[in-house]
Amino acid sequence: MAEELSLYRRWRPKRFAEVVGQELVVATLKRAVAQGKLYHAYLFAGQRGVGKTTLARLLARAANCLAPEDGEPCNRCPNCVRILSGQSLDVVEIDGASHRGIDQVRQLREEVAFLPVGARYKVYIIDEVHMLTQEAFNALLKTLEEPPAHVIFMFATTEPHKVPATVLSRCQAFWLRPIPEELIAKKIKEVAQAEGFALSEGAAEFLARRSGGSLRDALVLLEQLGRAGPITSDQIEAYLGLPPRVQLDAFLEALVAKDGARALEIIADLARRGRDFALFVEEALSRARDRVVAGEDELLSLLPDLVELRAQLPRAFSRRLHLELFVLEKCGVPKPSQPDGLKTSFPPAEQEKVVSPKDNPGESLGLSTAASATENLPCYSSETSEKGEAFRFQGAKEDDRWAEFLRAAWEKRADLGVFLAPAQQSYVDGVLRLVLPEGFRFHYESLKERELLADLEEVARKFYDPLLAVEISYAGDDGPKPLTFEEAVRLLAESLEGKIIGP
Ligand SMILES: [Zn+2]
Repeated sequence: MAEELSLYRRWRPKRFAEVVGQELVVATLKRAVAQGKLYHAYLFAGQRGVGKTTLARLLARAANCLAPEDGEPCNRCPNCVRILSGQSLDVVEIDGASHRGIDQVRQLREEVAFLPVGARYKVYIIDEVHMLTQEAFNALLKTLEEPPAHVIFMFATTEPHKVPATVLSRCQAFWLRPIPEELIAKKIKEVAQAEGFALSEGAAEFLARRSGGSLRDALVLLEQLGRAGPITSDQIEAYLGLPPRVQLDAFLEALVAKDGARALEIIADLARRGRDFALFVEEALSRARDRVVAGEDELLSLLPDLVELRAQLPRAFSRRLHLELFVLEKCGVPKPSQPDGLKTSFPPAEQEKVVSPKDNPGESLGLSTAASATENLPCYSSETSEKGEAFRFQGAKEDDRWAEFLRAAWEKRADLGVFLAPAQQSYVDGVLRLVLPEGFRFHYESLKERELLADLEEVARKFYDPLLAVEISYAGDDGPKPLTFEEAVRLLAESLEGKIIGP
């Protein structure tokens, strides 16, 4: 016995009745066979895995069967058996992708002149017919214009728009739809049971959804996963490199609750795991859609925004930054405290007045992190402090320099740029002081994180002074007038010359 056939080959329909999801096409073909009214050229168009060549092969057998039953091939007569075993000289399969030239079609034109060897019809199944060259199409057309009575062409293509209209007009064309998910789920449950694979109801539905209307893809996936043991949704996610549903749900719920801090945290986690942000948004959209269909109306308003985001993200200069700005836009500025879900626990208000170097492990990185609720530092928007007045002597020049620094920070790490954008800064005597205004506490907390601090310090030392120290503080309730979110985004956009942000 030859090597074991793959699952989808073994389960390829042998009768029209076994074809999944193409009832109308099947009914038309069966009727044509039963009435003996066959065309000389058929075209099956549709995405991969929906049954194009399967239908062509079924039709090739049914047309040649010596004892068809209601349009179905009997699969027992000599003609059926020969075709099924691939030994018939009268049914020829040609891959349009590798036999696309004029020579092949010329040879084919010579062959079609000869009568079939044992069967009633000579059948030429040309897969991916759109790959043929123009010359080849022209040669083919001559045969199609005056086809010998004993010849049937069956073309399959994923791209019917690339097939010349002159050829299309000579064919009975069928547009095969993607197979509905519920039919794929039903089929793979049936196959799993017969093959002894453990497949839960939920996993079957999930797998069907992931197959994008292609039964072949679903069966290939089923086979690959089924050999490893019981198939679960988690396994399917891991195998396909999809973000876990719990994470997608957490992200969607954060957006609905306008919990920007939580959503940004999930994005940071994706970055740490090296995940593809575009795929994540794609999956989040698909998950949101599923939940809306299941009756969760509160997610409905997210769908248009997610659709737009999905379209934008692959083209975004920085996908992460784009996604983060989307979150900030949807949620506004993160709230100071989120009891659940935030890994960072904010210190109680009394403790944040002054953090001495000894108390702060961040000091070991050579960073001075001062948290002060009252100190007024020079900044863009503060009009009150004396230091601020003194600092403003340098005016626009400093603004430019800060914008340059912001760009450098953003180039180092997109999230560093996002968190620094609303900060008010001064650089005096080797100390870069950054004050996050009221309302930007999440940014402040994020910047103090060891990893981000190290990057911030690195950029700042390159930019200003190799020996510089960084001080970060949060202006708290009594601090200078905070920037609004729009101002913060505008600031970042301006500093990057509007390259990334904006409609
Ligand atoms: Zn037969």
